[in-house]
Amino acid sequence: MSEIEVRIMWAPGKYIQGQNVLPNLGVYVRLLGESALIISDSRVYNLVGKAISDALKARKIRYGWTEFGGECCFEEIERISRQAKKGRSEVIIGVGGGKTLDTAKAVAVNRKVPMVMVPTIAATDAPTSSSSIVYSKEGVFEKVLSHSRNPELIVVDVGVIARAPVRFLASGMGDALATWFEADATFNSDSDNEVGGKPTRAAHILAKLCFEILMKHALAAKLAVEKERVIPAVDLIIEANILLSGLGFESGGLAAAHAIHNGLTVLEETHNYLHGEKVTVGTVTQLFLESKDKSVINQVLTFCNQLRLPMSLGDLGLAALSPSRLMEVAEAACRAEESIHNEPFDVTPEMVSDALLAADVYLREFRAQQQSTSFSPKPI
Ligand SMILES: [Zn+2]
Repeated sequence: MSEIEVRIMWAPGKYIQGQNVLPNLGVYVRLLGESALIISDSRVYNLVGKAISDALKARKIRYGWTEFGGECCFEEIERISRQAKKGRSEVIIGVGGGKTLDTAKAVAVNRKVPMVMVPTIAATDAPTSSSSIVYSKEGVFEKVLSHSRNPELIVVDVGVIARAPVRFLASGMGDALATWFEADATFNSDSDNEVGGKPTRAAHILAKLCFEILMKHALAAKLAVEKERVIPAVDLIIEANILLSGLGFESGGLAAAHAIHNGLTVLEETHNYLHGEKVTVGTVTQLFLESKDKSVINQVLTFCNQLRLPMSLGDLGLAALSPSRLMEVAEAACRAEESIHNEPFDVTPEMVSDALLAADVYLREFRAQQQSTSFSPKPI
């Protein structure tokens, strides 16, 4: 008889997404506590501060705001934790982008109180996950804090996210693009997911749904958000970027794409690119590493082209990378603890560097062909 595996899926307590849902925030926060400490930077406060304050006041929730210092570092987590202790805050609410939300998660875990996420951009799946990425005060990656739980509540106001710069939404789609390929690799190799068990079929199929929504609705959503418009495609893409991608990566598993992202971060030149942009280069490289069918590769490249996402070293301005620096990236991607080892075959640094170079060459050819068909049709 074959052994029955232990499958584990983690998820947030409540997920609420819609247009103009912020005025209802108090209704849901009230289920968690009577006082809250809200973390946001001043730009985000100017954007949604009044709506959130009004929503909490309406439900008689005591609240205070603290200004986020800009980096999810241990000093900042400690500072805000002390403030939450002093104010006896029963709930921690993070409002903003990934770093603010990651800090709020760590503070809530420190204080053993519920965590509430109010993302104002959809650049990553950070709002859904149970981890915080911690950096030094200077912004150098330090460690991933794996918490014992996911956020109790996530409230996503589609209108707020549609008014943020489109580059964030596109980057979130890049992060979400990796989800299916990585979850499928993890599933096929029977590796563990990010919460220490084999993936459930539910997480696997949610990752696939994430991919299908991206392929159908990405371009329409991007064009709408460029004009700060909300159409159903925007709603679909936000759910894919935040919820499906979050569940898909954490409970479905990571593989080569995120490991190659981590490898790329050893190069200072990549620091000005967003997480999802570097992950996209990782995803395209994973496709070459896995020798995926040409039709899949072309489908992904067409998608990335439409969103203006970088797909290769050349797109990141690294076309002339020396062989030794390329090997540094590949070796970092293949460190023992990296998720690249969830691929269904053994991966070496040489294979990663070859795949990175292959992606560059293929992409040049792909773009040349696209131009010849769209701009200079051959005479019959
Ligand atoms: Zn990611």
